[in-house]
Amino acid sequence: MIPKAVQDAMNEQIKNEIYSGYIYLSASAHFANNNLPGFAHWMRHQAEEELEHAMKFFDFIQDRGGTVTLQAIDQPPTMWKSPLEIFETALKHEQKVTGMINRIYEIAVKENDYPSQVMLHWFIKEQVEEEKNAGEIVETLKMLDAHGPSLLMLDRQLGARA
Ligand code: MG
Repeated sequence: MIPKAVQDAMNEQIKNEIYSGYIYLSASAHFANNNLPGFAHWMRHQAEEELEHAMKFFDFIQDRGGTVTLQAIDQPPTMWKSPLEIFETALKHEQKVTGMINRIYEIAVKENDYPSQVMLHWFIKEQVEEEKNAGEIVETLKMLDAHGPSLLMLDRQLGARA
């Protein structure tokens, strides 16, 4: 059986991952409305990944004989000033998620819950990637001027995400 404290934290994390997806999906809609289809594509792909993260927790709780309890999802931001602001929001959010994942890991250690620790290793590695990806785009955007041809080139590049 999954310890109650770990189950509660993972149920909370299902909500957090879906909320991450909500931020990215909202950003995708914003980019699509602002004629940056590559950015929109990148964000949509990211949103789908976040839903997969939520499902990993969903399945894991059930595989361990626990109970999934879904929580309310907040409304994501819908208004942004610039692509840079969006990616800075994404980076800050991913840093927050890293803290959340680490916190669940701490609970799993405290509860001597080894299966959860092993499962969480995947997320710990994933967060390194997420912060790196968002951080690199933030740095690139800082080097570009906001409306010039270089932004359109970055749009093409992000649009090529598989
Ligand atoms: Mg995630």
